[in-house]
This record gives sequence, C-alpha cells and structure tokens, in this order.
Amino acid sequence: MEINSGYINKLIEELERLPGVGNKSAQRMAYYIVSQPVERVNRLTAAIDNAKKNTHYCEKCLTLTDSNLCSVCRDETRDKKTIMVVENPRDLAAYEKTGKYKGVYHVLHGAISPMLGIGPGDIKLKELITRLEDDVDEVIVATNASLEGETTAMYISKLIKPTGIKVTRIASGVPVGGDIEYIDEVTLLRALDGRVEL
Ligand code: ZN
Repeated sequence: MEINSGYINKLIEELERLPGVGNKSAQRMAYYIVSQPVERVNRLTAAIDNAKKNTHYCEKCLTLTDSNLCSVCRDETRDKKTIMVVENPRDLAAYEKTGKYKGVYHVLHGAISPMLGIGPGDIKLKELITRLEDDVDEVIVATNASLEGETTAMYISKLIKPTGIKVTRIASGVPVGGDIEYIDEVTLLRALDGRVEL
C-alpha cells in the first residue's frame, strides 16, 4: 500500500537526487515543505528558478556569476598574470575566503577521471589554454589531492610546460583525498605558499 501521496513521493524522489541528501533527509524536507505556508514555498521555488535562470559561466574564468564577468575578473587590482586552476566554483570560494590570494582563477568544472570516463575534453581545459595566449606568468594548479586531481595536475603540467609559462602545484598541506572546499583557511594558505614548480 502507498503510504504517501504520489506528489510527496515525487518530491522526495527529486530531493534525494541532491548531493548529500539521503532518503531520510529527503522525506523530512518534503514533509516540511508541504507543511509550510504557500508564500514561503513560492519563495523557495522562485529562488531556485531565478538562480538557475540568471547564473552562468564567467566569460574569463568560468566560475558561476550573474554578470558577464565575475567579481574577481572585474577587479582591476587583481593580478591577471597569475591564474589558479581549481576544479569547481566551491574551491574558488574557499580560496577567496582566505582573502590573501591576489591572482585570478580558472574553473575546470571537473577533473580527469579515466575510471568515470571523464577525459581532458570533458573539462574546461581548452578554455585554459586559450587564456594563456594573454600575458601569463604563472599557472598554479590547485586541483584536489585525489587521484583525479593529481591526474589532472600532471596533464595540465604537460600541456603548459612547452609554452614556457611557469606551472606550480599547491603543496601537500592539503591532505590526500581532501576536498579543497572543506579545508581550513590556514592550511589552504600554507599549501599556496609552499607551492612547488611542476
Ligand atoms: Zn571570472
């Protein structure tokens, strides 16, 4: 026998697809949502709708923004000759929170993973190479310390070395398998300061 209404089941099913949400949490959220006043639920659906409609990739660094250029790329005081390569916008946010990095970024939107069938052509590498046609002094590879992150770092290093541009990798202060977005600011800065040439 079906305990929930079909509509609630559908909602649970959708919520369960979100990262980090298990079946129990999805059920809690679904019951909570339908118990709320309709205005409140409308605000939530409008927020989701607007975020999706108005967010796109920055023309330069490909992080998510609601303008043509993100706030970092728009900032005249940032050093455009130093590009830090990160896997996703959350990693960029983690480094921005330290307030100490003065260069710009490039967001790959993923990492190379032969196991998952994600190749170099599936992440934003072509766009990175195009950016190197501008005046660039250093590319700092700040991908995660996971197998995928390391594979991607090696690939980038091989790709860029022939151009003569300096390629560095953040130090191993970032624990192996550690996701950059969860690492504290002090450790992130230490990893950045201790970067080594690839
Ligand atoms: Zn940008």
